Amino acid sequence: MARKKTAAKTTKKLVKKAVRKKTAVTKTHRKKTGVSSLSKRTNAATSKHTDKPLPRQPLGHLLVEKILREAGFKGGVSTDKHILDRYSTDESIFSIRPQIVIQPKDQRDVEIAVSVINEKKGTFPSLSLTPRAAGTGLSGGSLTDSIVIDTCAHMRHMGSVRTEHGSTLFTCESGTMWRDVEKALKKEGCYLPPFPASKDICSIGGSVANNAAGPDSLRYGHCADWVHSLEVTLYDGKTYTIKPMTYREFKILTKKNNAYSTIAKEVFALIAKHEKTIQKTRPKTKKNSAGYPLWDVLNVSVASFRRGKGTFDLTRLISGSQGTIGIITSVTMRAQPIAQDTQLIVVPVFDLMDAGKVISKALDFNPINIELFDGLTFDLALQHPEFFKDRLSKLDYYKVLLSLYTTYHVRYARKTPAFTILITIDPKSLSSRTAAGMVKALKNNHGKRARLVKNRHEREMFWQVRRASYSLSKLQDPNKRPAAFLEDMTVPPQHLSKFFAEIKKLLKKYNVTAAVHGHGGNGHLHFYPLLDFGNKTTPALIEKMAEEFFATAVKHDGNICGEHNDGIIRTPHLSKMFNKKTLSLFAQVEHICDPLDIFNPGKKVNPRFDIKGSIRDKN
Ligand SMILES: Cc1cc2nc3c(=O)[nH]c(=O)nc-3n(C[C@H](O)[C@H](O)[C@H](O)COP(=O)(O)OP(=O)(O)OC[C@H]3O[C@@H](n4cnc5c(N)ncnc54)[C@H](O)[C@@H]3O)c2cc1C
Repeated sequence: MARKKTAAKTTKKLVKKAVRKKTAVTKTHRKKTGVSSLSKRTNAATSKHTDKPLPRQPLGHLLVEKILREAGFKGGVSTDKHILDRYSTDESIFSIRPQIVIQPKDQRDVEIAVSVINEKKGTFPSLSLTPRAAGTGLSGGSLTDSIVIDTCAHMRHMGSVRTEHGSTLFTCESGTMWRDVEKALKKEGCYLPPFPASKDICSIGGSVANNAAGPDSLRYGHCADWVHSLEVTLYDGKTYTIKPMTYREFKILTKKNNAYSTIAKEVFALIAKHEKTIQKTRPKTKKNSAGYPLWDVLNVSVASFRRGKGTFDLTRLISGSQGTIGIITSVTMRAQPIAQDTQLIVVPVFDLMDAGKVISKALDFNPINIELFDGLTFDLALQHPEFFKDRLSKLDYYKVLLSLYTTYHVRYARKTPAFTILITIDPKSLSSRTAAGMVKALKNNHGKRARLVKNRHEREMFWQVRRASYSLSKLQDPNKRPAAFLEDMTVPPQHLSKFFAEIKKLLKKYNVTAAVHGHGGNGHLHFYPLLDFGNKTTPALIEKMAEEFFATAVKHDGNICGEHNDGIIRTPHLSKMFNKKTLSLFAQVEHICDPLDIFNPGKKVNPRFDIKGSIRDKN
């Protein structure tokens, strides 16, 4: 109570000062109030300083702390310079300084924060809330010049794993780390199949909000496919349980008078009115996190739904919405039994043009995943054996290295494959066929060197190299950084070879190297060009390259955003994938869900960040 009064007094003084001298406000406030019980729990983002001009209405932001406290907000609130610096970057290429960071203790705190911004938005339109979880996003989704609401600092409680109607389910607060869920599920012999490569450093809520995916998504889809229900705080500051509804349940909901009911009614009306356009707009690639997937909200036609079939599911819109619709406070997801006795087939491909053909053939066998890495990644692994030292136990480390060098010197006769393709199969997916039969089929279809890998250390070696591709590319030049902006392009797998050949030409044109790895079965390649962010010409280069590379992906029936979402980098380019009508539907749906623009403005629709001006200036 005493703390509340002191905070209120200090803020009052500061508000007066602010009116007299607006420009000095933020600095003074920081000095006087400092950190207000902000958790020290670290976030994946690295510390980074920028002195970009502060955006509008510092007074509004200054008042937020006072109003939050008066409304009973229990969590941390800070305008401390170092904290703001820390929240200025995520794993993307951007750096944008927030005005305030808040760390809710629980769902009630989230509701208070949303209610406060809702109430003050009329007076201070620049107030908004950008959710941030572990901050490992690659598109700048969690960056803002307004208020960051960090759901990962405190909201990490996980309930027990349970079985309902034959499904294994778990519920956790949105800031729970993926690795903690993984541990709990493993005890039950289960896992969450859409695990991203960043599963050791990212959260569940951030992954659902990004609609993340990973190697096993080839068979099991994105996070959205595993969501059972979500607790989401909507624009009215209330939290709703959002889950698939039958027509009867939908009708009952629409009789209520609340934000969820209004959103459900209006989104349904929008889908009903534009059903044909929406269905036509569905991207051709299996993986997609661009735009709002209106085509997935109903799993049957509008007419069938009205006749009582199928479901209407707003979790499909919220998953992948990057916090632009509401704040997820809790997640319930399904889990899958861990497949036993999986086998690995490796196909080194020396002629680039063979890669697409090998992958197309492998897809006939319904593998769990088809992953790949390029020759540069393999060479970097050979050049930096010490990289794997901390990742393996001593004996395993030597055995894995032995396997790496034997593969290169003996098996490949010192010739690095253009691509190494890894295919995981399980006996069930092969049904009457055998792994040996699959190897034979691949050999006959441009995969001459296909091989079943039986040795445990050799299998480990291939996966170590695949997983290390991004980190290994950092070792090429200490003065450069692998830049995430071309890292999420996806094409139908049959177009992969031609697409990759064209990308290689473009990289040559721009005189840039980029290690490549990805989810071959989905035609999904992660390119990380090595760039010097200290060089003043880099932002212009990034803009130019993004234009040309994205257009190339779309030309091959592809997509600019397979799993890392739109964020700051791709939102302005969505017009390359979607026509004006569809973009307008995205804007309408965002407006229905967030009429006051409380949640993460500038992402997914209405881009407002100047890309060149927001790019980090240090590596
Ligand atoms: C080395 C590396 C490898 C990666 N590999 C993959 C990969 O294989 N697949 C993949 O999909 N991604 C990958 N990523 C990107 C990223 O790690 C994932 O998308 C991850 O799931 C994001 O989780 P996070 O907790 O860090 O979320 P954040 O980055 O903090 O947030 C992601 C987005 O969700 C929003 N958000 C966060 N919490 C909430 C909430 N509670 N309610 C509403 N919105 C919210 C944020 O505003 C932001 O827009 C990788 C990143 C790195 C650095």
